[in-house]
Amino acid sequence: MIGGVMRIFVTGGAGYIGSVCVEELLKYGHEVLVFDNMEEGHAEAVLAPATLTVGDLNNFAQVNAAVGEFRPDAVIHFAGKALVGESMTNPYIYYQTNVMGGTNLLEAAVRAGCKKFVFSSSCATYGPPEKIPMDERIPQKPINPYGHSKLIFEQVLKWYEKVHGVVFTALRYFNAAGASVANGEDRKVETHLIPIVLDVALGRREFIGIFGENYATPDGTCIRDYVHVIDLAEAHIKALDRTVSGFFNLGSGDGYSVRQVIDVARKVTGHAIPAKIMPPRPGDPPRLVASANRARMDLGWKPRFNKLPTIIETAWAWRQAHPKGYRSQ
Ligand code: UDP
Repeated sequence: MIGGVMRIFVTGGAGYIGSVCVEELLKYGHEVLVFDNMEEGHAEAVLAPATLTVGDLNNFAQVNAAVGEFRPDAVIHFAGKALVGESMTNPYIYYQTNVMGGTNLLEAAVRAGCKKFVFSSSCATYGPPEKIPMDERIPQKPINPYGHSKLIFEQVLKWYEKVHGVVFTALRYFNAAGASVANGEDRKVETHLIPIVLDVALGRREFIGIFGENYATPDGTCIRDYVHVIDLAEAHIKALDRTVSGFFNLGSGDGYSVRQVIDVARKVTGHAIPAKIMPPRPGDPPRLVASANRARMDLGWKPRFNKLPTIIETAWAWRQAHPKGYRSQ
């Protein structure tokens, strides 16, 4: 079904990017069931009338029953392990959840007759690029188990397309950031740059540690492409209308170094945000910046919040409204 109201099974829909996507799906009138193990999810993040089923992708019987009962028209698969640093110390959970858990979900979808699948992939599937900006044709040579696990699942999707006729859209996110009014970043242990910087501005941390200052970049710190979470969500809505499979980079096309991010956050928050140089973090590529031309042309993606100050302003607004995360509601 194209363009009409659909039943959408959303894994990880209680998490950061998933919950914002659910908000967007509801705006379009879709019927949404969120499947989340609540490891990083928040029940408050799942807005009504979406419903929440707590379950684990690693348990095939559980995911198969949930998909079989809901009978979705499409699956949007956000759930997964997503920390580069953690994957360098505990690769097992990355292959288990991102590869095997994802395959459990895909198999359950096919068994329930659902052949439309949207997957949260990552720019980490590329590894350090030879040229910037990065389009979808550059070689995929991940340098951490996180990126490798996402790449393997992309390949699983290709085989499910061949064998079962699944139509998939793999969205390779660059650095998700920002917030909607209702939903933002609130993790058990925060490791991401922007939320940590804002924690310093809130007085909840003393300083931001800069992981390495001797990278081959103009100011020596790593460069990333920050993309607004609402723009990411919109790309998933576009993906629902697709009738052929594809891979798309989702980024703003602008690269900001760690120091530049801290500077923008200083301006947005009016706080001095002290910074200290720390050792580099293993597995970090120096520079990742997207060319999202394919997403704009073929997916019809039109990012609306692609300036870093706007992205940080929305994240700051959410953090100020929720200084202790969802628990402060
Ligand atoms: N970073 C940093 N200090 C921190 C957290 C992150 O210097 O406390 C750097 C990190 O090394 C990377 C960039 O900020 O170059 C973005 O990291 P993040 O964890 O937000 O996202 P990633 O790029 O790993 O997905």
